[in-house]
Amino acid sequence: MQSLPYSQIRQSLDNNTLTCVELVKYHLAVIEKKGHLNAFLSVYKNEALTQAEEVDRKIKNRNAGKLAGLVVGLKDLLCYQDHPLQGGSKILDGFVSQYSATAVQRLLDEDALIIGRQNCDEFGMGSSNENSAFGPVANDPDNTRVSGGSSGGWAVAVQAGMWLVALGTVTGGSVRQPAAFCGLVGLKPTYSRISRHGLAAYASSFDCVGLFSNHIDDIALVLEVIAGADEFDSTVSHREVPSYSTAMQEKEERKFKIAYMRDTIEHPALQPEIKNTIQEKINRLKANGHTVEGIDFPLNDYVLPTYYILATAEASSNLSRYDGVRYGYRSPAATDLPSLYKKTRSNGFGKEVQRRILLGTFVLSARYYDAYYTQAQRVRRLIRNQIKTIFNDFDFILMPTTPTTAFALGEHSDNPLEMYLADLFSVQANVAGVPAISIHCGKDKQGLPIGLQLVADDFEESKLLQFSKRILEMK
Ligand code: GLN
Repeated sequence: MQSLPYSQIRQSLDNNTLTCVELVKYHLAVIEKKGHLNAFLSVYKNEALTQAEEVDRKIKNRNAGKLAGLVVGLKDLLCYQDHPLQGGSKILDGFVSQYSATAVQRLLDEDALIIGRQNCDEFGMGSSNENSAFGPVANDPDNTRVSGGSSGGWAVAVQAGMWLVALGTVTGGSVRQPAAFCGLVGLKPTYSRISRHGLAAYASSFDCVGLFSNHIDDIALVLEVIAGADEFDSTVSHREVPSYSTAMQEKEERKFKIAYMRDTIEHPALQPEIKNTIQEKINRLKANGHTVEGIDFPLNDYVLPTYYILATAEASSNLSRYDGVRYGYRSPAATDLPSLYKKTRSNGFGKEVQRRILLGTFVLSARYYDAYYTQAQRVRRLIRNQIKTIFNDFDFILMPTTPTTAFALGEHSDNPLEMYLADLFSVQANVAGVPAISIHCGKDKQGLPIGLQLVADDFEESKLLQFSKRILEMK
């Protein structure tokens, strides 16, 4: 069942050869079997079964929603009313969401079945899911390897068949990087395509809701349900949401112009097998009649530093709300108000989050504001402008998703800079705000999945999804 796309599952549900209850039971059994991966923090067993019975009734009455029986998991950064939310952090101990994120509510309105909450790096800060207060997540086929981050639990859950589609958040590379490490499809939509209402903020000008699945058609369908205007988020786009799922069924024969960034493929840190696999794909694209040209992007060296200056600055401001007064954890050792703040935040946040708050506070401090924060904002604008210019001549930008395949647990834990380099190719789309996808494109010598990344212009998700599907099916 795990490898079936939702459309087939839906057919069986509509034909009464399968019920939602059976489906949920199947996924619950996988969750139990794969408990050692540490992918989930809560499983809503009884609730999901009750919901499943309800949706089964609707299917019989022929009034079930568009996503009836779609088993979904949520990253621990998306609010689900009356359910715990901790962002992988001790500081939110005991916190329960008072409302559902818009994206979550839209899934429920279409009868999707939410089965659990997934582990993640604390507040989305990490590239390996080793920064969670609930312990690291292991990759399914090789438990000594990381799952990627910050959405490791999320990716592994789909990889291992615990649920069909996962919904979560992405600030830098958090969907594409774990998707590459786990051999899945991961989509980061255009910034503002999906409402951020109910998403626990990390860096608000980068944060997006993103999607993982084994099947690209499932991503198209879910995107069309959750995208679009929302009265609770004034930054969300009011642009009409196209029917992505219909577009996926259309026969698309167009030949495209694709730019590949030479310095990503020539990068000294790129694992040779990834380079060869991407090169092979480029040759296949050419053989299929597409135009693929190498381009230089001199600003590439500035993308990662720009991201880490701006994201930490925004994080230091966003995370100031966790003060021991308003949410979750409060240090029992506090004696007065200043010690309440200090002790709560020192004990409640993990090391990486504290590092980023310090870094972000530093770049926002009066003496360094212009040298770092303002300068990084300017560079961000340049990066976006130059990426947009590329789309005057090309339909897509192609590059590897990650410099290496899934690394070993603990391999980069003592060196934050090495860890940040895992995002070398994936943060660009977040800095520029454009949509990007990672698709599975091969394996290295050890059998670990390799991801290929495609970036498109603003709001071109339809074209991006369609073309990615063609690449996945390409001979
Ligand atoms: N790895 C990046 C970071 O640590 C991005 C993670 C994310 O997208 N949430 O900031």
